[in-house]
Amino acid sequence: MGEAAIVVGLMGAMIAVIWLRPVVRQWQRSRWQQRPFPPLWEAVVSDTFPAYDRLSPSQRRRLQGQIQVFLAEKQFIGCGGLQVTVEMQVTIAAIACVLLLAEPGREFTNLRSILLYPTAYRVKATTAIDRFVVTEQQETRLGESWTADQVVLAWDAIAWDRQHWQDGHNLVLHEFAHQLDQADGRADGVPILRRRTDYDTWATVMTPVYQQLCAAVQQGRKPVLNPYGATNPAEFFAVATETFFEQPRSLQRHHPTLYDQLRQYYQLDPLTWLQEEHEDN
Ligand SMILES: [Zn+2]
Repeated sequence: MGEAAIVVGLMGAMIAVIWLRPVVRQWQRSRWQQRPFPPLWEAVVSDTFPAYDRLSPSQRRRLQGQIQVFLAEKQFIGCGGLQVTVEMQVTIAAIACVLLLAEPGREFTNLRSILLYPTAYRVKATTAIDRFVVTEQQETRLGESWTADQVVLAWDAIAWDRQHWQDGHNLVLHEFAHQLDQADGRADGVPILRRRTDYDTWATVMTPVYQQLCAAVQQGRKPVLNPYGATNPAEFFAVATETFFEQPRSLQRHHPTLYDQLRQYYQLDPLTWLQEEHEDN
């Protein structure tokens, strides 16, 4: 009888812990969000994300809160002798959180840590040719998003991006778009969408533009989207995200359905952030 009571008590405690965990996390997050945002951080955000000053006051506050949560929950690890500074952390968090800004509840679910190298890093890449043959070669990479729980980035590429917002390339946007894509455990270019029917719409819009990009690359034409997006649908989504935020006018002009789809997904309209005819292309 006593043992049964203990078992029931333990089960009750476990259920309480499981039930309470999201409540406690939400409470913790709201505390982080309410922390005052240091003016120095705000200067870094403004410098990193040019449209920051075009956001509404409530959007700016929301972004600041998301950056606070990101910095509290994610671990930064300096690699290759790099000392990770607060400025580096705020820079990366600011761009990553733009992807979460307007969609309540969206988060980088799997991500635990960000490995930061001073410059493009070399890795030993293994490729399985078939079941029995695996090739191994050195590859130089700027960044990558691991399905498990890590993003690996090169700081010099991020520092370059900060000075070249409208060139259509942004390492942090690219790698964190991969994180959103991989939130459901698959790197297939399809992030988690609101409704079941949204997946059909997504495929209807994305597939033809992806095929157009593949054809343009094969024919040696210069597409609006980075040719690297023709690698596979996962890279296509990451590349389209970069273009959406950095060259919205070009994307909207050449691929209006893709632009609209991403506008709906991110619940943001970067076209409204453009002040003048500054955008490339
Ligand atoms: Zn990629």
